[in-house]
Amino acid sequence: MVYILPKAKVKLDTYVMLAKGEISGMGIVRNIRRGVLLIEDLYIFEQECTMADTILNRRKIGEFVTDMIIAGKDPSVLRLWWHSHANMDVFWSVTDDGTISGFNNEWMLSLVTNFAGDVLCRIDAFAPVQTTALETRFQVLLEAPELLLASLRREVAAKVVFIEPKPVKVNGKAVYVPES
Ligand SMILES: [Zn+2]
Repeated sequence: MVYILPKAKVKLDTYVMLAKGEISGMGIVRNIRRGVLLIEDLYIFEQECTMADTILNRRKIGEFVTDMIIAGKDPSVLRLWWHSHANMDVFWSVTDDGTISGFNNEWMLSLVTNFAGDVLCRIDAFAPVQTTALETRFQVLLEAPELLLASLRREVAAKVVFIEPKPVKVNGKAVYVPES
């Protein structure tokens, strides 16, 4: 499951919308728990793009990583590679496969999107051999602010009555049958 913070999704969609053709960048991903990743922020670097191609400037990425280290930040959280296919469908091209295989991290999350707002995600682990998990579940992480959460909690407690299921004996065993 891949979640993205609302502000990161707004940034992604806006970068994609503002580019005439393709555009790509990196981003910060945290492994919240096994199988659950959270995209927290994303960045772009100087790049040359066409309608059907985007080339990451590895020197610019190197400078960005160096700046992160100087600022006391951990560059190992930079585990997202994202790009837009502009007005084409989302899929993993041979070029994309090559870009992904070129990362020498433990693992990377890759995301491809387009003008239509379609999104595909995949997670690649690189050791001991490259393995790919095609992860299609992608969702904006929406959390209620504390005040709203408190008021909704009171409303649910006041209005929603949960009726405990009653066990029914079947062949001497207690089973739960839903009310009909
Ligand atoms: Zn691509």
